[in-house]
Amino acid sequence: MNRKERRRQAKTGTVAPSGPAFGADDALAFLSGRRPAPAAPPPPAPSPKTDVSTAVQFRALDALRAGRSLSAVAEAVRAAGAVADQAWNAARPVVEARRQPGFACAAGCSWCCYQQVAVAPAEAVAIARHVETTFTPEQRAGLDARIAALDDKARGIGLWSRARLKSPCVMLAENGACSIYEVRPLRCRGVYSRDAGQCQWVMENPDQVYGNPDRHATPGPYPIEPAKIMDTALTGLARASQEAGLDWQALELTAALRLILGNPEVTERYLGGEAVLAPARLPERDDGDPAQGPTGRPG
Ligand code: SF4
Repeated sequence: MNRKERRRQAKTGTVAPSGPAFGADDALAFLSGRRPAPAAPPPPAPSPKTDVSTAVQFRALDALRAGRSLSAVAEAVRAAGAVADQAWNAARPVVEARRQPGFACAAGCSWCCYQQVAVAPAEAVAIARHVETTFTPEQRAGLDARIAALDDKARGIGLWSRARLKSPCVMLAENGACSIYEVRPLRCRGVYSRDAGQCQWVMENPDQVYGNPDRHATPGPYPIEPAKIMDTALTGLARASQEAGLDWQALELTAALRLILGNPEVTERYLGGEAVLAPARLPERDDGDPAQGPTGRPG
């Protein structure tokens, strides 16, 4: 498969589970709107990317082997996050020390939570289960209202248009924390920055980011490694989902939650192998940069 085809698949969320990555080549682009640095020579086998993808695939399949239940899907997603987090935690000290300053990310900093959030269907179902089992009625009512309001504005739009809304993710709490931190999407786990001021500027100036044809020319403060690890984990989860007969194509978080929450029959149909979440797919066309074609949005 050539690069153009990989980009098309990554952008549309139709990357084949047998392929090398879930949009990994565009990970830096979706993080920062910047072009990834030239690829380094491939490392000697075994590839860490392959290890993460394969480990996630096997762990997720182990969870799903007993049957396509809601708890099995939640366990598969939990296992995927555990494998990916472990891989990133092992790599993080070296990546962070490679440049100064170190990572600026801290509790309460949420400039990166104002964009489109891409999730695997299994993640969306697991997040909905977490919400339905842990949120208070008041929290749930607030969330439902935020989902409806944002989905009405954001359904089907691309990265640039979504960034122009300057609307926070529906899961962002008032204190700037992620209200589903322990089950947050893999894409969100892949976002790190050495410069919170740059993250704020990007959030506040989407037209200067997406409208600047030279924005890929200089490296940004966003390390590519965590995004690649999380994207390879998504590849493993997609492969396991396909092998288990479950939908695996990427969704937009808000739209997916609107379909799932309060509608148990949707979850049942998903578990039955139907592509019932297809209306929440990421938009076919990325209006932020049709030529570059990043896939979606981190958290
Ligand atoms: S789900 Fe992701 S984008 Fe949304 S609040 Fe949590 S970390 Fe931020």
